[in-house]
Amino acid sequence: MRYCSLGSGSRGNATLVVEQQHALLIDCGFSRKNILQRLQQAELPVEQLQGVLVTHEHSDHAKGVQSLCEALDIPFYSSHGTARKMQWQQHALWRCIRGDESVTIAGMQVMPVVVPHDAQEPLQFVVRGRRDHCLGVLSDLGSLTPHVVHRYRRCHGLQVEANHDPQMLQRGPYPPALRARVAGQFGHLSNQQCAELLQRVRWSGLQSVTAGHISEKNNDEQLVRQALAPAMACQPEDVQLLRQDEVSPWQQLN
Ligand SMILES: [Zn+2]
Ligand SMILES: [Zn+2]
Repeated sequence: MRYCSLGSGSRGNATLVVEQQHALLIDCGFSRKNILQRLQQAELPVEQLQGVLVTHEHSDHAKGVQSLCEALDIPFYSSHGTARKMQWQQHALWRCIRGDESVTIAGMQVMPVVVPHDAQEPLQFVVRGRRDHCLGVLSDLGSLTPHVVHRYRRCHGLQVEANHDPQMLQRGPYPPALRARVAGQFGHLSNQQCAELLQRVRWSGLQSVTAGHISEKNNDEQLVRQALAPAMACQPEDVQLLRQDEVSPWQQLN
């Protein structure tokens, strides 16, 4: 199983997961044209894409989903709440998935995880491949719940959110209401919360960790590295960060 980020941040998110010749996209927060370019950069033959898993309706995750899936004639999967917000319920390519009910898609076992975030019915995903390798993707999370910690234990790969530095957020350009939203229980994870998550789920089988959804205004890459390195028992320069305008290197789980 291998995966990469096609871009991560408040202006668009998409993660590609591939098992043998089958690929799934988690979120498509880019236009169709843009995501097709990014798929090409990742050197993924577009015929391998079997579907799109959607975490929630915010445009940095859902913007290009319908248009891409219509163009490729592939299904997209979301909770009922997300579909209602996006007006997808009657769409022929939409498939309903439910929190904590695992489904097999494109030969991978997908576990949708219920998370606290300010959307209608947000989910995040743990994906298990044929050889039992397990990838946890967690992009928008207001706070750590026992349920989230439980679900993301024993993953071999983790892509997690390190959204903001609390001090930068407080001093930054956001108006007070938005600041409170981001920092709140249903907003986004701070660097410190991300470190706490990693500390709690780290185990001997964990092979690869990448940190994404990093705020361009309320965070700094150096601060992310400093916060996460102790939790990962590595040097700050070895913390792998995802960026808005970059297709990340492939991470291989074996
Ligand atoms: Zn969101
Ligand atoms: Zn987001």
